[in-house]
Amino acid sequence: MPRPDLPDLVLPDGRLYVGGVWETGTGAEITSVFPADGRVNLTIRGASAADGERAIARAQAAQADPAWHGLKPHERARHLARIADGIEANLDRISQIQSRDTGKTLTETRALAMSAAGTFRYYAAVCETADETLTTQRGTALTLSVHEPLGLVAAITPWNSPIASDAQKVAPALAAGNAVLLKPASWSPLTALELARIVDESGLPKGLFSVLPGAGREIGNLLVEHPAIARVSFTGGTETGRALARKAAEKLMPVSLELGGKSPTIVFADADQDVALAGILFGIFSSTGQSCIAGARLYVERAIWDRFVPRLVAATERLRVGHPFDPATQVAPMVHRDHRDGVARMVAAAVAEGAEVLTGGRIPEGPDYDAGAYYLPTILTGVPDDATICREEVFGPVLVVLPFDTEAEVIARSNDNAYGLACGIWTRDMPKAWRVGRAITTGTVWVNTYKQFSISTPFGGEKDSGTGREKGREGMRAYMAQKSFYLDLTNAPHPWAGLGAEGTP
Ligand code: NAD
Repeated sequence: MPRPDLPDLVLPDGRLYVGGVWETGTGAEITSVFPADGRVNLTIRGASAADGERAIARAQAAQADPAWHGLKPHERARHLARIADGIEANLDRISQIQSRDTGKTLTETRALAMSAAGTFRYYAAVCETADETLTTQRGTALTLSVHEPLGLVAAITPWNSPIASDAQKVAPALAAGNAVLLKPASWSPLTALELARIVDESGLPKGLFSVLPGAGREIGNLLVEHPAIARVSFTGGTETGRALARKAAEKLMPVSLELGGKSPTIVFADADQDVALAGILFGIFSSTGQSCIAGARLYVERAIWDRFVPRLVAATERLRVGHPFDPATQVAPMVHRDHRDGVARMVAAAVAEGAEVLTGGRIPEGPDYDAGAYYLPTILTGVPDDATICREEVFGPVLVVLPFDTEAEVIARSNDNAYGLACGIWTRDMPKAWRVGRAITTGTVWVNTYKQFSISTPFGGEKDSGTGREKGREGMRAYMAQKSFYLDLTNAPHPWAGLGAEGTP
């Protein structure tokens, strides 16, 4: 396979977007690497706590300014629509930057950029059409409830789908009238800086948006602990989320936590096997398995095991593992060699625990792969449900496949896991799909499909997969404070005070 040429691309210059001002960071260095061949994209200085403090001060001023605070929702909506336009006008550029940052295929990063534009457009519409409530009157006062911005919101995001997960937080938080400080992950700082350029050029008042790549323990901690930050929306690993929630509890700050997963997928004997096969392959091996919702535990009804599993293995071996800029590639490199090596260690530990490797289980070799962060799509079997590889998130292209016999059994085994993010069910029997989907503790159920997304449909996890929901009309309300009003209509003194008709005792 000839290595595709990289298109000419002017990368972001590495300055941070600190409360609407482009500044060189004063924190630790961050290096963005192209995972396909290990070349350095750019080394930048990340944000220090001092940079964060400046961003917060500018955000406070901008959020309180009548130029933003005084806007009606339909006027705020125009800003979001302009950001959507800016993203759409830059789809190719964003896609290339994101592929350079993360190693994802151009096909996938283009789809992520389009989804980010759609997210800004959707929340422009939500902002413009969200109604306030006149509550049922029970006394002399007219009662109503309104929603107001919280003030300053921090968005902390992982590296796996940068612009889409950034937009999922930034768009509803801005729509709600807040200022937003975004801290992207250190392996993928460039995509968020490109979003900052687009927002800057959109005419959004300066200060309302910051992009502060940097170390979690420095800039991340500052954002979580700072008294001016009224909410943190976090997507990332479960242990990071748990530590963050403890700090948030100290200051009684609401947080939403989109965390890890080990999602079960179930193929019943009556399923259309071609549909199931395609959905399973896409569910675990797209994004090279670096997806919180990856369908990582596959349960196959024993009656079809002997036919289905060999087909699954053969189809996995036909997947094209290659360069992210080659349009034929299905499985691109992983985000970083450190992460790839961690996945390889988890597979080796599973084998030591008794797992049988049905395919993959190794780093591919050859000139196309040697300098990159590649790992072959891998299928393991022969382990009990309590094996580490069945319990812990791998966040890589590793599927564990196990047989089951009854509906009750597969429900219990699916639920016997700390996570509860997503699940997939393949069957032609819709009442069964409904029963099983309702019985599984999870945030999302896909039936005869997998990894489909819609911004209008809420998303979030149960158990160790997190708390709170993003997306949907209610997604904007999460970034607002509710305030209730009692407007008395009688103009009469309260009888309790015992005042006479003229107001004198
Ligand atoms: P991570 O938890 O290491 O980092 C996530 C973000 O938190 C990064 O920006 C990181 O710099 C920051 N951070 C780290 N320590 C911090 C601290 N002490 N205070 C504040 N911020 C801190 O996760 P990752 O490796 O970047 O991403 C992979 C994880 O994200 C996986 O577990 C995956 O399942 C999860 N994820 C979840 C969803 C979801 O929607 N549920 C989506 C994508 C990824």
